Amino acid sequence: MLRIDLKKAVEEIKKRSAKIVLLQLPEGLKTRNLEIASELQKKTSALVVSTLDPCFGACDLAENAAKQVGADLILHFGHSQFYSPEVPTIFVPLGYELENKKLKELASRAAELLKKSGIKKISLCSTIQYLDFFGLLKKEFEKKGIAIEIPAGKNASPGQVLGCNYSAVSRQADAVVFFGDGLFHPLGIAFSSKKRVFIINPLEAEAKELAGEKELFLKKRFALIEKAMPAQKIGILLSGKKGQFKMQKALELKELIEKHRRQAFLFTADLIRPDYSLGIEVDAFVCTACPRLAIDDASSFRKPLLNPSELEIALGEKTFEEYEIGEFF
Ligand code: SF4
Repeated sequence: MLRIDLKKAVEEIKKRSAKIVLLQLPEGLKTRNLEIASELQKKTSALVVSTLDPCFGACDLAENAAKQVGADLILHFGHSQFYSPEVPTIFVPLGYELENKKLKELASRAAELLKKSGIKKISLCSTIQYLDFFGLLKKEFEKKGIAIEIPAGKNASPGQVLGCNYSAVSRQADAVVFFGDGLFHPLGIAFSSKKRVFIINPLEAEAKELAGEKELFLKKRFALIEKAMPAQKIGILLSGKKGQFKMQKALELKELIEKHRRQAFLFTADLIRPDYSLGIEVDAFVCTACPRLAIDDASSFRKPLLNPSELEIALGEKTFEEYEIGEFF
């Protein structure tokens, strides 16, 4: 269950005498939209307008919608600041509610697994929803004699990772421990750091090493890269979302594609969706937007959809051994 604390948001609305507030919630929280909007309207005199556009990160603040409805303030939930917005924005944190007792047991099991695996020093990282548990985890690991590093990354809190940013992972540790759910971040950490990665998933009460999942993932991506190797016409996708717009990268890719005597075509869209690309007869796409897009959505596209570093492999600029998902930082 996600913990939502509206105290700071209410204070900020009152302090700024905001008349119209634009509410932006991540996809998973939309079922609680009415609850949040009602509470804000009850506790302040502001009019709340919620955006229905999908939101996947703070790289995508609803500034245009805010300007259109004349909002004084954006309340963006669940992500930390990614860039300096033009419209005043409050980032409202969301955190999971986890039981301390169960968490201590899980941490203790994870520490035993690390010790058995010969790991003495770890880099601990997580996504923003779980950062509050670092204190408890650190204490439990240190009790078991495992040293912990939680370095500060670029544009993120200490230990915080994002699908486009693994700068908070220590390169000095023996292994990386990811505390959270899902496989995307552990895979990103493994390719970015080249270290062994262990996952502590509090939602499934599971502690394990990332192993077979990595091979399976690579198999799928290599098949896609091989399919793109003979591509003669390559579409370069740009995202219109402010934090994901990478014009310089798109131009570099165009140059690279043309160096290999293929044709490059640039496309831009606010939301990159498979149905928007129907009718575009290229042989492959390369996506300069969020690195997660090419990974999560590739199977919905009719043509191979690659990340920039994967295109470099397809063009023979890099080897399969140099595989990485790709980062912005
Ligand atoms: S670019 Fe992707 S991974 Fe990075 S913040 Fe945006 S949605 Fe998250």
